[in-house]
Amino acid sequence: MGDVLVYTEPTGNTESLLALARPLAQAAGGEVIALRAGAGAGESDGLAGADVVLEVSHPSLSSYLPEAHQAALTAAIKARQPDLVLLENTTAGYDLAAACAELADLPFVGYCQQVSLEGGQAQTASGIYGGQLVANARTQLPAVCAINSTALHDHAPAAGRGEHAELTPPDELEHLRTKFVEEIAPPEEAGVDLAKAERIVCVGRGIGGAENIPVAQDLAEALDAALAASRPVIDSGWLPKVHQVGKSGAHVKPKLYLTLGVSGAPEHIEGMQGAELIVAINTDPGAAIFNIAHYGAVADLFDVADEMTQLVGG
Ligand SMILES: Cc1cc2nc3c(=O)[nH]c(=O)nc-3n(C[C@H](O)[C@H](O)[C@H](O)COP(=O)(O)OP(=O)(O)OC[C@H]3O[C@@H](n4cnc5c(N)ncnc54)[C@H](O)[C@@H]3O)c2cc1C
Repeated sequence: MGDVLVYTEPTGNTESLLALARPLAQAAGGEVIALRAGAGAGESDGLAGADVVLEVSHPSLSSYLPEAHQAALTAAIKARQPDLVLLENTTAGYDLAAACAELADLPFVGYCQQVSLEGGQAQTASGIYGGQLVANARTQLPAVCAINSTALHDHAPAAGRGEHAELTPPDELEHLRTKFVEEIAPPEEAGVDLAKAERIVCVGRGIGGAENIPVAQDLAEALDAALAASRPVIDSGWLPKVHQVGKSGAHVKPKLYLTLGVSGAPEHIEGMQGAELIVAINTDPGAAIFNIAHYGAVADLFDVADEMTQLVGG
């Protein structure tokens, strides 16, 4: 009892999640267990912060097949009886967390920006309505929490005991009703990785049309930044989907996030509020983006973008 079980995603923020788990396990008087569910023995990269690396291997776990990973995580919860189960609040992590909480009959709290344990309860602060409100909750342990990427910091966790243990694959994996068929990469610009970008220039509907995208593209190039967009820009076909930031797009944490004609809707803010420095250009002084921007200009983006490109481009 008192353990914190961390589900690790192959491309997830595992080290940071383990770093967050350590003080929680200490508070509960238990250990940090990292669950690695995959098709075979994998690398131990990023798992040094675990006291126990619990491995469950089965061919159906090679990719994110929800039914298979739900069975594996639920089996791990039942086998190890942790006080707390932590997942990253990614698309897959949120999906898995909610389903496993139901299967294991545990309460679930999503979008956690903070978690602490006290008196047999988890105290959580979750960003809701795109981070516009914070919901504080006290939840009886054991519980499942999905942690927002903005709460995960780049600290390496203290080294754990590093024990390796095997979990027998649950029987359900032999009787799955779904099958992973293939992974389809986004058709265009598969190389765009907004989550790793240090600087981002983001265009909103204020850009007016596909013919004006080069204005933002030029500024992005001058700043050595990636180009991102709000959803209407994507839905209008002005840029491919890989550029979308927000609730249904990428969640980003760059050092600089410069917006051009973005209003700051909650669904957009949800994906970029972790940026270190937010700069907004918008003609509307009442635009919500100014509520979270560190610097802002009430101005026409075409004037500002061109001038900035010239200044930065030298
Ligand atoms: C379930 C769900 C999921 C969603 N997911 C996402 C998501 O992932 N990402 C996302 O972005 N949205 C998402 N949305 C949509 C979201 O609600 C907003 O509609 C969207 O973010 C608005 O985009 P925008 O700011 O570009 O456009 P608008 O809200 O139309 O704002 C355009 C802004 O440009 C300004 N402007 C106009 N002309 C100029 C100019 N010349 N110079 C400077 N400023 C100018 C205007 O003042 C205005 O503030 C989602 C919505 C739902 C319901």
